[in-house]
Amino acid sequence: MGISENVMNILKSLPPGVRLLAATKSRSVDEIQEAIDAGVDLIGENYVQEAAKKFEKIGRRVEWHFIGHLQKNKVKKALQIFDVIETVDSLDIAREINKRAESMGKIAFVMIEINSAREPQKFGVMPENALDLADEIFSLENLQLIGVMTMGPTVSKPEDIRPYFSLTRKIFDELRYIYGDEQIRYLSMGMTDTWRIGVQEGANIVRIGTGIFGPRGEQGKLL
Ligand SMILES: *Cc1c(COP(=O)(O)O)cnc(C)c1O
Repeated sequence: MGISENVMNILKSLPPGVRLLAATKSRSVDEIQEAIDAGVDLIGENYVQEAAKKFEKIGRRVEWHFIGHLQKNKVKKALQIFDVIETVDSLDIAREINKRAESMGKIAFVMIEINSAREPQKFGVMPENALDLADEIFSLENLQLIGVMTMGPTVSKPEDIRPYFSLTRKIFDELRYIYGDEQIRYLSMGMTDTWRIGVQEGANIVRIGTGIFGPRGEQGKLL
């Protein structure tokens, strides 16, 4: 199936209120354009440089979320492109984003990435430290915390990811209780193989790459 059909099928299957984020790492501007024409209005990129090139062509017709690991020296550029940074996982990076946002005279919208399976090699804050990080983010004047995201572990069957999504949902609910659900809006979880579980566990953003664009080639890995 082609990109437009994939997008339309996914959009049809999503319950109202759940947003589709097209994960576009390694995809060309033409491919992304086709997805946008079929109804995608939110795209997620993992690398600032790669996103910058695409942003020149695509611009603000869509909303841009950063979903990769953000390095300090890329924060300024990231803030010029992205509407939301979904992957804040330390006070260190939160402070850097705050500092840059302040000098640009803007408020940066951020989400906390949860390392829901507590995997040492993965990014994200440990679940038990999420509330403290949220508290610290709230004391930074040029940051606005609007949600949480998680990747979860690599699983052999989709159902196995449920406990990690469920845990992330609990943290989302606690944050909503503390800061209000007008402030804490987004729960981003679920990818091509797991988005249905994500939605069942309360996600309102699902991040889909392969399910829209097909398998990523070797070429894509180099980007
Ligand atoms: C690549 C990526 C996705 C999408 O993964 P697929 O399995 O291709 O749907 C979602 N989230 C993040 C953070 C990614 O890097």
